[in-house]
Amino acid sequence: MLTNRRSGISASKNAVKYYQKLRKKHKKITNIREDFLQKTTTLLAKTYQHILVEDLNIKGMMANHKIGSALSSLGLYRFRELLSYKQESCGFLLTIVDRWFPSSKTCSVCGNIQDMPLKERVYHCQNCGQVMDRDLNASKNLEGWTNADGLSVNACGQEGAVSLG
Ligand SMILES: [Zn+2]
Repeated sequence: MLTNRRSGISASKNAVKYYQKLRKKHKKITNIREDFLQKTTTLLAKTYQHILVEDLNIKGMMANHKIGSALSSLGLYRFRELLSYKQESCGFLLTIVDRWFPSSKTCSVCGNIQDMPLKERVYHCQNCGQVMDRDLNASKNLEGWTNADGLSVNACGQEGAVSLG
């Protein structure tokens, strides 16, 4: 029962009902999110032979209160966790890219590195002039990172890069 220990006042019937409803709603949202993460990671696991994800400094980003709650709602930890589980059963290659690799700041065409504040959603290269969606540019850099690291990619499979930065 909901009782305020200090005042000794118990919650009214309506309050109890309200909290029960609220709990149910929270549970429903959690289920929807888990379902989404399960389906998305399964689709990725079945579609690609090689998936690259950035080893994001999730704890550091959570500490940034501007984006922390939005990120925790996305369930980034769970996303990567599920990919790791599915790697064992589906047999694709999961590569975690070094978190210090400047995937968002690097131009995927000329290699120029420039500052990219989070609000910048498009990469305008100050060196070669290429204009590309921030996440697409970062994904292309992640692809390059693997090759530079000497990992082989199955010729039959596609390569996929996921950028969440
Ligand atoms: Zn460039």
